Amino acid sequence: MTAQAEPLELVKLTKRYGDTVAVDAIDLRVPAGTYCCLLGPSGCGKSSTLRMIAGHETVSDGDLVLGAHNISDIPPAKRKTSMMFQNYALFPHLSSRDNVAFSLKMRGIDAPTRYERADAALALVQMEGFAKRRPNQLSGGQQQRIALARALVTEPSILLLDEPLSALDPFLRIRMRAELKRLQQDLGITFIHVTHSQEEAMALSDLVVVMNDGRIEQAGTAREVFSRPRTPFVARFIGGHNVVDGRVDRIENGLIHFAVPTGRAAARAPDAALSTGDPVSIAVRADQITLAQGNQAANDNANSLSGKISSIQYQGSFVEVRVDAGQAEPILVTVPDSRFDAAPVAEGEDATLTWPIEDGHLLASASA
Ligand code: ADP
Repeated sequence: MTAQAEPLELVKLTKRYGDTVAVDAIDLRVPAGTYCCLLGPSGCGKSSTLRMIAGHETVSDGDLVLGAHNISDIPPAKRKTSMMFQNYALFPHLSSRDNVAFSLKMRGIDAPTRYERADAALALVQMEGFAKRRPNQLSGGQQQRIALARALVTEPSILLLDEPLSALDPFLRIRMRAELKRLQQDLGITFIHVTHSQEEAMALSDLVVVMNDGRIEQAGTAREVFSRPRTPFVARFIGGHNVVDGRVDRIENGLIHFAVPTGRAAARAPDAALSTGDPVSIAVRADQITLAQGNQAANDNANSLSGKISSIQYQGSFVEVRVDAGQAEPILVTVPDSRFDAAPVAEGEDATLTWPIEDGHLLASASA
């Protein structure tokens, strides 16, 4: 099976349902052959975006451009996109093979050709041995493979997947995740995968698009988004990060020093237009914070917060320690188990948190 990969461009793409703006003029370029995840909480507009790309939902404003063509008003079957649904939507009375061949039948393709293509699609998802079975004779994971084969049989340029792994048990989910990635790489086409799981998006994506309230908060590689979240929302949503809020105290040599309730913090920001007293937030990864026993706020580190340990949770190879340090949420520190064991701390004890200046990333304000 071969399909031509083409770049997809969303230009000021907007979806309104009455007064609700579900997707708010988003711009996004998805290069050909990309594994792209639309990531965000429920209701942020992921599915509406996916359905507009598929043609199952009309575009209220803006454009969808696939390769050289504006596809905004083209019927779904002519778009070179194909959708795999969350509930698989298989026909219960048809065999796997007929389910997979169905859309080709609708397109008027002759029986020998459509069965040949259906068999190739079944082979692609390792289901050639199940061609004669009906959906109720298959496990959930197998039904999903059939749904995947059915979506791929039309040789789309873009495969659209709406929460494809959410119905699977955790073990199968991780296995199918690896298979989706392999398929995408083998086929070389673009996959656009909607998920609310940051772990899934991190594991799969070449391009992670973090959405919130109908807008794109950040789009980038998994590594970029994780190591440099752009906004407080992204930092909180992707997990493993802390958002430290404070106010600008002074700016010296491109270094912003700011006052926080229980200590001080600093971040490099040569381009930031900030003045003394402005509110600022930085993101600091939980694994980049060093926790020391006792209140040592008088040390000379530019980043230092003091507080009380509010919880300790063992997670196997690391320990999650949360410290109340006057921020909106407790500061999370992940401590490798060997380091924790060498200097154990307990709930209720005083602690001091420090981190290198380069590990604090200035965040754009929520409204930016
Ligand atoms: P997500 O996939 O991120 O959960 P959706 O795209 O499904 O988000 O929904 C975005 C917003 O649009 C939500 O506020 C939702 O209630 C609203 N919405 C979605 N579909 C419809 C619809 N058919 N009619 C009216 N409102 C809708």
